[in-house]
Amino acid sequence: MAWVGSLFQFRSFMSQPEQHSFQAEIQQLLSIVIHSLYTDREVFVRELVSNAADACEKLRFLQASGQSPTGEPAPTIGLTTDETAGTVTVADTGVGMTRDELVQNIGTIAHSGTKAFLKALAEQQKPDTRLIGQFGVGFYSAFIVAKQVTVFTRSHQESAEGWKWTSEGGNGYTLEPAPDLPRGTRVVLALKDDAKDFAKADALERIVKRYSNFVAFPLELNGTRVNTVQAIWARSKNDVTEEEYKEFYEYLAHDNEPPKYRLHFTTDAPIAIQALLYVPSRSFEMPGMVRQESEVHLYCRKVLIDSKPKALLPEWLRFMRGVVDSEDLPLNVSRERMQDSGLMRKLNKALTNRFLKQLAEMAEKDPAAYDQFHAEYHRFLKEGALSDFEHQAAIARLLRYDSSTTEVGKKTALADYVKRMPDSQKEIYYLAARDRAAAEASPYFEVFRERKLEVLIIEDPIDEFVMDRLREFDGKKIVAAEKAELEIDNAATEGGLSNDDAVALASWLKTTLGEGVHEVRSSKRLVDSPVVVVESDKFLTGSMRRTLKMMGREADAGLEAAPDLELNPRHPVIVKLQQLRQSDAALAELVATQLFDQARLAAGRLDDPRSMLQRMNTLLSRIVGV
Ligand code: ADP
Ligand code: MG
Repeated sequence: MAWVGSLFQFRSFMSQPEQHSFQAEIQQLLSIVIHSLYTDREVFVRELVSNAADACEKLRFLQASGQSPTGEPAPTIGLTTDETAGTVTVADTGVGMTRDELVQNIGTIAHSGTKAFLKALAEQQKPDTRLIGQFGVGFYSAFIVAKQVTVFTRSHQESAEGWKWTSEGGNGYTLEPAPDLPRGTRVVLALKDDAKDFAKADALERIVKRYSNFVAFPLELNGTRVNTVQAIWARSKNDVTEEEYKEFYEYLAHDNEPPKYRLHFTTDAPIAIQALLYVPSRSFEMPGMVRQESEVHLYCRKVLIDSKPKALLPEWLRFMRGVVDSEDLPLNVSRERMQDSGLMRKLNKALTNRFLKQLAEMAEKDPAAYDQFHAEYHRFLKEGALSDFEHQAAIARLLRYDSSTTEVGKKTALADYVKRMPDSQKEIYYLAARDRAAAEASPYFEVFRERKLEVLIIEDPIDEFVMDRLREFDGKKIVAAEKAELEIDNAATEGGLSNDDAVALASWLKTTLGEGVHEVRSSKRLVDSPVVVVESDKFLTGSMRRTLKMMGREADAGLEAAPDLELNPRHPVIVKLQQLRQSDAALAELVATQLFDQARLAAGRLDDPRSMLQRMNTLLSRIVGV
C-alpha cells in the first residue's frame, strides 16, 4: 500500500542522519583553519572552553531572570581525555542548543565581519590564531586537531529534544536526534593522528591552566578541579581581600615579596577595562642585562587572549605585572586588522594614564614609599621620559633629583623646586656631577652658591638626556648650570682686572694656547676658580660630551670642537698673570698652559695628564729657586 511505503520512507528518513552542507564561507574558513594554522594548535582548547563558559553564563542569566527553570545541575564545565580512543571531550551544563540553533550557530556565519576576517586570514603567511576567537568562529578551531567533531546538545528550554551534530570538516555535517541527553552541550573531538598528544591528561592540563585558569565556572579535567585561582580582577575592589590580592600576585609574578603598588580599576568608556596591575617590590630586570618582556596578560572575559601582548603598555612599563581584561576585544575587532591595533592603542592609553595618575597620588600620599619606588624604577621612568612623548610631562612630575638645597640624601620633585624658586628666578638649573660633593666643588657651581640659587644635582648620565629632552617644566626652561647666563653681584668685582686688561689678557691667552681653545673670554660667574673651560657648542655640556664619547658617538657634531676658556678677572692668579706676561713672558706662558690644563682636567677633557706633570715640575723648580 502506498501509505505504508511513504510511512516507511518517512521513518527511514527519521532514523537516517540528515545531511547538510556548510555555507560557502564556512567551507572557505575551514580550509584556511585546517591548512594554515599549524602553530598554536592548542587554541582549540581555549575556544571550546570559552564557548562552554559562555553557555554557562547564558544559563545563569536566564535562570536569574526567570527565563529558565533553576535547579540541578549547576553550570559546570568538564573536560575528559581518552588516550586510547584518542579523544578529547568538552562538556558543559549550560544553555545547550535547539536543532535550529545548532544549524544557525555552527553551520552558518552570521557575523558581519567574517568576510574581512577571511581576507585577513588568507593574506597572512602565518595567520594569527588570536583572530579566531575574536571573529566568532572559535568553534571551527576544533578542526585544527580533530578529524571528526561530534556535538551532543540539549537546550535548556522546556521539553527540548537532544541532537547530535557530526562533521569531518569537509563540505558539511549530519544532524540526527539524540535521546536522553542532559541539558547542555558535549563536544567530542576524535583527534587526528598527529594531534593525539592532546589526549594526554598532562598536556591538556597545561593548556587548560594556561588559557582558562580563571574561567568563572568550575572547570574539571578528568574529574579534578583545575581552575582554583579566582579571577579577582573582575570583582569589585570591596569584595577582594588583601589575602586574595597577595595570593593572586604570587601566582601571577612568581614573587613571594609583596608588591610595591597595586592598581585595581574598572572603566566603561572609552573602552571597557577591568585591570589589576602590580608593581613588584623590586625590578626583575638587571641594569645592563637582557630586557624583560611585558607580562601584563590580556584577557577577554576571563579567557586569556595573549600572555605577552606587545602593545598593551608602553615599553618603559615592562616592569609591571598583572591582568587586563576587556570585553570590547572580540566585538570591536570584527572589521579590519587595523582596528585591532587601534583598540590596543586605546587600551594602552587608558592604562598608562591611569597608572601615571595613581603614581602621582601615591607620591603625594606617602613620599617615603614613593622614594623607594623611585629608587628601584627611576630608570624606567627616565626611559619613558625619553621615548614616550605623549606621557613625557606626566612622567617629569614623577622624577626626583638631588638638589643643592635639600638635605643630603633627600631628593626633590621638579614641582617642589619650582615652588621654591624666587620670583626673580626664571629657569630651572641642573648640574651633572659624580656626586653632591663634586657638584659643590665644581667651578660651575660658584655663581649659584654666591647667588643662593638652587641647582638640581644629577648623577646619572641618562638624566642629562632627560633634561635635554624635557626642555621645560611648568613653563620654566630647564638649563644646564654651565650654560646658564648668570652673573655674580657687582660688589664682588672690586680689586680685579680692569675691563681693558681683561680683554688684553684674554686675547694673549688665545694666542698662547692656540688651536686647543676656541674662544677666551672674561667670566662673570667665577668666584674661587681662576679659569674654567666651557663647551663651545651651544647645546652640549661637558658631561654629555663625555657620555656621547663613551658611547662611541665621536662623529656627532660638536664633540671634537675645542672648548671655550673663561677667566676670572677677580682672581689673584689671573691678576698676577696679567703683570707676569710683561715681566716674564716664558713663565707666564707656563702658568697659562698649566691653568688651561687644570681646567680641562676638572672638566674631564684632558686625555693625557702626563704633560701636565712635567710642566708642574718645571714650575715647582722655579718656586723653590733652582
Ligand atoms: P562565538 O563563540 O564567538 O559566538 P563560536 O564559533 O565559538 O563563536 O561559536 C558559535 C556559536 O555556537 C556560539 O555563539 C554559540 O551560540 C554556539 N555554541 C558554541 N558552543 C556552544 C556550547 N558549548 N553551548 C551552547 N552554544 C554553543
Ligand atoms: Mg566562541
